[in-house]
Amino acid sequence: MSAYTLPELAYDLAALEPHYSAEVLELHHDKHHAAYVAGANAALEKLDQARTSDDYGSINQLQKNLAFHLSGHVLHSMFWENLSPDGGGVPEGELAAAVDDGFGSLDHFRNQLTQAALNVQGSGWGALTWEPLGQRLIIEQIYDHQSNVGQGAPPLLVLDMWEHAYYLQYRNVKADWVDAFWKIVNWPDVAARFSRARTLELL
Ligand code: MN
Repeated sequence: MSAYTLPELAYDLAALEPHYSAEVLELHHDKHHAAYVAGANAALEKLDQARTSDDYGSINQLQKNLAFHLSGHVLHSMFWENLSPDGGGVPEGELAAAVDDGFGSLDHFRNQLTQAALNVQGSGWGALTWEPLGQRLIIEQIYDHQSNVGQGAPPLLVLDMWEHAYYLQYRNVKADWVDAFWKIVNWPDVAARFSRARTLELL
């Protein structure tokens, strides 16, 4: 079984400046994201050992570690693709229509996701997700990397609100980080995820 690996960024470290500094991006990708990849692989390896030795004394911790690190890996991999040096602007086409339909308007959507992100207690994410059962877009507030989410709804756009994501550049002014995020959102990437997610039949 292949191990998880750290994906390369599709742009240079300085490409998102001034909105996202090369220094923060390098640390965030090369150190923080890399740690989640290593953590997910370590959890899988220890679960492998537990099965082999039939020793499940640490099962709860191992399952918790797997959920945390694997979700961290998934969210960060998506986050890099959700951003682009050519980002910003507004969504188009069917995604734009679904945003209007789900939230009333682009501004209402943006305000809700901004508030969900800014008000995360502790570490977490704001996310736009496709909820396949109700066939609707919803906003979720993700605690850590894996908590407080409905099952089966794939994220389309994720916003990292962990302090490591912004503190070096934006200090305690989280709102400035969120403003910057909106200027580098890769809407075509979000639209492509939306179109793939809509083919999902949950039940
Ligand atoms: Mn992060």
